[in-house]
Formats: sequence, C-alpha cells, structure tokens
Amino acid sequence: MSFKLPDLPYAYEALEPFIDAQTMKIHHTAHHQAYVNNLNAALAKHPENEGKELSDLLSNLDKLPEDIKGAVRNNGGGHYNHDFFWKVLAPAGSTSMSADLEAALVKNFGSVDAFKEEFEKAALTRFGSGWAWLVKKADGSLKVVSTPNQDNHYMCSDCVNDVPLLGLDVWEHAYYLKYQNKRGEYAKAFWNVVNWDKVAELGGF
Ligand code: MN
Repeated sequence: MSFKLPDLPYAYEALEPFIDAQTMKIHHTAHHQAYVNNLNAALAKHPENEGKELSDLLSNLDKLPEDIKGAVRNNGGGHYNHDFFWKVLAPAGSTSMSADLEAALVKNFGSVDAFKEEFEKAALTRFGSGWAWLVKKADGSLKVVSTPNQDNHYMCSDCVNDVPLLGLDVWEHAYYLKYQNKRGEYAKAFWNVVNWDKVAELGGF
C-alpha cells in the first residue's frame, strides 16, 4: 500500500485569475506528485512503516529510522499539507463565510479584517518557504501560526492536537509565476478562493 496523489476537486483553471492554471497544474502534478513519490520511496526502505496513517508517521517522526526521518518529515509533510491546501480552496464566489464562523473569528481576533491581517502577516513574515495556518486549539480558541518548510501541527508536541482550518502555501512555487516576489499580493488574492464551507466544517462551525 502506498500514498497516492489525490485528484483536485476542481479544474486547474478554476481559481483564475487569483491562482493561475499553470501554477496549479505544476503545483499538483509536479510538486505534490514529487512529495508523494519521495514519501513512498522512503517508506519502501523500511517496509514495516508502510501502511501506517500519515498522521501517525508525522506525529512520531522520532520513532522512524534515522535514514528516512528527514525524508518522511519533508515529503510526508508535503503530502499532508498539499492534500489539505487543495481542499480549502474553491472557485471564487462558490462559498461564503457562515455566520457562526464569522462570529468565531470576531470573538478570537476582534474582526474578520483583523484575522485576515494577522494571517497575511504570518504568510509574509515566514522567512523562506513554509505555510501560514489558522488552527483551532484544544481549548476551542482560534490561532494564526506559521510553520517552516513542510512542517505542520503534527510535528510539534504542543500543537499535535491542533485542528487546522485553513492553510496557505507560501513556497515560491505556489505563486512565483504570477506574483513573482510579491507574496503579499498572493496572500491578499487568496481570500477570493478560500473554501469557507470547508473551513467552517473543519472547525465545527
Ligand atoms: Mn506547494
């Protein structure tokens, strides 16, 4: 049993003009596929780890053999993060923020705009490659965080039980063809293609 590249729930051009079709196609068929292939190749070196859930692998990296620990962290994280990312995107105008989700954002951040500002700041100030996230903590509070590389909540003992509600890939491969060095413009454009139905569902709102 091995991990597989998931199909996208929309066409590559469905997020235009905010995320362009060429970027989506390369991101899915080349970058995400490579994470899947490299994850499977690493696990094949130690077949006793094949068949495990991705969440189990990522939250127990220390238990993996030294020679595949890094590959599973980077490529397993890459597979998890991208699988998540595709699900929280949707064609512009196809979803809208529910009243319950809006109330939760207002309660935790003061306003929806303040939440977006904090999220964009997390995206913009992540040095190098990584992700910005909205997570629900075990106590029910919402927090904006960011992770380097392909790390995620499974790799941190204080956040392993966080529930990610929204994630933004801020690797240059996610935006450079259209936005070049303007990561902030990409982060602002992202709001047009957020799948708010999915965010609400993940958060139980
Ligand atoms: Mn990516």
